[in-house]
Amino acid sequence: MRYKGRRQSSNVEDRRGRSSSSGGIGIPLLLGGFKGKWLILIVLALLLFKGFGGIGEVLGTDSPVQSSAQEEELKEFVSVVLAETEDVWNEVFRKEGGTYREPGLVLYSGTTTSGCGVASSGTGPFYCPADQKVYLDLSFFEELRVKFQAPGDFAMAYVIAHEVGHHVQNLTGIMDQMDQYRRTHSETEYNRFSVRVELQADYLAGVFASFIQKKGILEVGDIEEAMKAASQIGDDRLQELVRGEVEPDLFTHGTSEHRMRWFMKGYESGDLKSGDTFSIPYENL
Ligand SMILES: [Zn+2]
Repeated sequence: MRYKGRRQSSNVEDRRGRSSSSGGIGIPLLLGGFKGKWLILIVLALLLFKGFGGIGEVLGTDSPVQSSAQEEELKEFVSVVLAETEDVWNEVFRKEGGTYREPGLVLYSGTTTSGCGVASSGTGPFYCPADQKVYLDLSFFEELRVKFQAPGDFAMAYVIAHEVGHHVQNLTGIMDQMDQYRRTHSETEYNRFSVRVELQADYLAGVFASFIQKKGILEVGDIEEAMKAASQIGDDRLQELVRGEVEPDLFTHGTSEHRMRWFMKGYESGDLKSGDTFSIPYENL
C-alpha cells in the first residue's frame, strides 16, 4: 500500500513503554511515603543505566518511548491505515444518512488496561466496544509475518481494518446483540453467532480495501497479502496448529475458506448491502 506522506490519524494513543496500571510511569511514582522511597530507588537505578542526561525525562509525566526506526515506520503505517478507515467509514455513514464516530487505537507493548480488562500481547489485536478502541501491540505484526506466515503491509492493514470493522458493528448495534446472545444461548449457538460477526468484520475489511483500491493506493499483491492473512488465521488452520485437530463446534471466527470468501465479497461489492452474514443458513456462509 502506498502510505508514505498520507494523512495520519490523530486517534492513535501511544502507550508503548508504559506500565499497565496507569498512564505513564511518572504520575503514580510521584506520590509520597512508601512510593516516594521507591521513586528514589527507581530514579537511582535509571540514572545508573541512562546517565544523568535522562533525569528530566524520567521525572516527566510521559516516559519517552524507546522505539526503533522500524517501529516508528510501523506506527506511521498504522496511523495512515487508521486515517484511511476514517475516510472510508465517514463517507459510507454519511451516504447512509448517519454519522460515523471514529474509534481510538491504542498502541501498547506488553500489557495495558482497556475498557474490556487487561490487554496483553498474547491476546492479539482486539476491539473493545466499551471504550471504542482498538488495542494493538506492534509485535503482533512480527508474529503475523513469522508465525502465521502472512507477510506484507496489506496483511497488517487487513488486521486493522477487521478490528475497525468491529467498531462499525458496534455502531450498527451488532456488538450489543452479540452480548445478548452470550447471555441467552448455549456455547455452541453463541460460537456460531460469533462466526457470523467475525465474517462480517472480514467483509467490512474487504469493503475498506475496495475503497482504497479506488483511491489508487493499493499496490500489486496487496489483496493477495490480505487473503493470505485471512486464510492463515482461519479457525481450522489455527486449531490444527494448536490442538492438532479441527473441532467445528469451537469455531468462533470461521474457517480459512470462510474468511477469504467474505473478505473477497466485501472487496468485490464495495458496499454494505451484501454484507449480511446473519440471515444466511450457517452451512451456507
Ligand atoms: Zn474479530
